[in-house]
Amino acid sequence: MPLEIIAFPGGPIETNAYLVGDTESGDALVIDAPYETTEAIVAEAAKRGWTICEIVITHTHWDHIADAKALTEATEAPLAAHPLAEAPLANPASSFGEPPVPVPPVAANMALEDEDTVTLGEHTFRVLHLPGHDPAHIALYNEEAGVLLGGDVLFPKGHGRTDLLGADQGVMNESLRRLVAELPEETTVLPGHGQPTTIGAEAAWIRALPETDAG
Ligand SMILES: [Zn+2]
Repeated sequence: MPLEIIAFPGGPIETNAYLVGDTESGDALVIDAPYETTEAIVAEAAKRGWTICEIVITHTHWDHIADAKALTEATEAPLAAHPLAEAPLANPASSFGEPPVPVPPVAANMALEDEDTVTLGEHTFRVLHLPGHDPAHIALYNEEAGVLLGGDVLFPKGHGRTDLLGADQGVMNESLRRLVAELPEETTVLPGHGQPTTIGAEAAWIRALPETDAG
C-alpha cells in the first residue's frame, strides 16, 4: 500500500486537510489548508520522512485556505489551484465578507484545470473541475487506489452548500452526476468536512437530482 492518506480536521468548522504520501519516494501532497493545521501537517510529514512537494487547494472558501500562506512558507512547496482560484486567493476578503479567522492573501503558482494530472512518485491523480459549490472547485482522483479527494462537492448524504456567492445548484447537480457517471461505485470519497463515503453509497440520491436543461 504505497499511497497513505492522513486527515487533519481543523479550524472553526472542522475542515479536513489531507496529507497524501507516496511511501516509496517519500514525496507528499497536501490537500487544503484549514486554519492552524500547518504545524501538525509539517510534523507528521517529518515524522514519516516525507517531503511535501505540492499543496493543492480544492476551492477558495476561507475554511480551506486560511493556512495556505503559512503552509507554503513552512514547506516552500508550490501552491496549485484552478485558474479561477487565483483572484480570490490573492484577495480573500473580497469573496466572503468577514471570516472568523485571519485569511492572509497567497499567490497560486501552479494552475490545475480539468483533466490535468498531478503526479506523486509513481502515482497519478486526475484533476476534475467540479463547479457548483465554488466556480474554482477541483477534486483529485487516483484510479489505482480508488480515492477521490473531493473537497466540498460530495459528503455522506449531501453536497456542498449552493446558497453562497458563486454557487449554483444546477451546476452542482451536473458535477455530482459526472462523478457517478465517471467514477467506479467502490471509489472512496475523502471530503472536505466529516467522514469518508463512497460513490456507490451516494449514487441513488445523486441519480434522483433534477436534470437541468441542456444548453
Ligand atoms: Zn466550501
